[in-house]
Amino acid sequence: MLPLKDLRHTMESCNHCGQCKWVLGPKTKGYDYAEICPIHQRFGFDAYSGQGLLNIAEEILDGELEYESGLVDLIYSCTTCGACDINCKSVRDMEVLETILALRARVVADGWGPMPAHQEAAGAVAAHHNIYGRAHEQRFDWLAPEVKLTKNCTTAYFAGCSAAYRYPQIAQDTAKILNAGGLEFTVLHAEEYCCGGPLWRTGQIAEARKVAEHNLAVLEKQGIDRVITSCAECFGAFRDFYPRLGPVNFRVMHITEVVQQLIAEQRLTLHHREDRKVTYHDPCLLGRLSEPYVPWNGEIQAFGRHEPPKQWRRGAQGVYDAPREVLQAIPGVEIVEMVRNEENSYCCGGGGGVAEAFPDFSQWTARERCREAGSTGAAAMVSCCPFCQSALEQALGAADGGMKYLDITRLIAEALG
Ligand code: SF4
Ligand code: SF4
Repeated sequence: MLPLKDLRHTMESCNHCGQCKWVLGPKTKGYDYAEICPIHQRFGFDAYSGQGLLNIAEEILDGELEYESGLVDLIYSCTTCGACDINCKSVRDMEVLETILALRARVVADGWGPMPAHQEAAGAVAAHHNIYGRAHEQRFDWLAPEVKLTKNCTTAYFAGCSAAYRYPQIAQDTAKILNAGGLEFTVLHAEEYCCGGPLWRTGQIAEARKVAEHNLAVLEKQGIDRVITSCAECFGAFRDFYPRLGPVNFRVMHITEVVQQLIAEQRLTLHHREDRKVTYHDPCLLGRLSEPYVPWNGEIQAFGRHEPPKQWRRGAQGVYDAPREVLQAIPGVEIVEMVRNEENSYCCGGGGGVAEAFPDFSQWTARERCREAGSTGAAAMVSCCPFCQSALEQALGAADGGMKYLDITRLIAEALG
């Protein structure tokens, strides 16, 4: 994690153009669904945006802004969805999200953060290795006796806290899919701890590092060279956070990428269950934020020229095709796209600790996403992240519009035959 002071170039480069609040012009179809920053759309002040958070970060760095609880609330109302970052980067070379995350770390270091709900999650991870404070011994309760695990296997399925405790169906379906495709895998059993992503994104760096380093050591010791996840938050942590701690000697694949590969190799065939019109929601951490973190050490020269050249993560290389190809491989499934998709996907409201700290705003964001999903005429909204599931399912339930939420692993598992 870069300290805030190392991101001064980004703060000083902001020219208040406002692109971080909007989908880039050519990618929009009109005013409706052109806004991309949930906090700006909801609260309507520039302070609530990537632009505003950069200004706040600079003033905190320079000692020109004093902390008060309203300011801390503002900083923690951002869902860290990164839409500002990739839209800023469509026209500039700046690190907006990196600065927002460093700002949160700074708020924690200065003793003003995180929010109580985030502290509670960190306490739960310290005591029980999961964010929900559930007994560690129950982490693998999802593992049914019929699941075939392979001993001394170099591929591990990492379920993560949310699939393990809240949505065991996702973990069960994932294991079933892997078994059906004949892909040998193992699990970490008692050695699987929280991925650390939710702690990292709320500025609790030391706490996040502790569990991440544990997982890295276990994966190394067991000789794992491929980690499979079914959770976008875990995927994002492995891709973006872990490489900041040191070399990562394994590749991480999302279950949709694995299934895409199994289908291409004709090891898995999906069958018709029912005709379904679905819309696919790209989780931020599987989409625009899933490009691997590449450390850069260099000098920023005149006109912002980075020497040696820096590899910018602009969101276009996220995991977009795999889930869509897998859905299309299920006979009877038709995908209808939302206006804001792929790198311009609109946040579900469930990430960045917002669901825990500001549940009303989180649900406002989820409802906005469901409104867009409803406009497609789809009967179901499909995604592949337990955090998205929690936010979107709740919003769909409250709307009672008849649209269902489905994790992609449920659709795949049902289509196995
Ligand atoms: S898009 Fe970038 S440069 Fe423009 S206002 Fe937003 S953060 Fe500043
Ligand atoms: S990360 Fe998302 S919510 Fe936060 S300022 Fe950027 S676009 Fe807005």
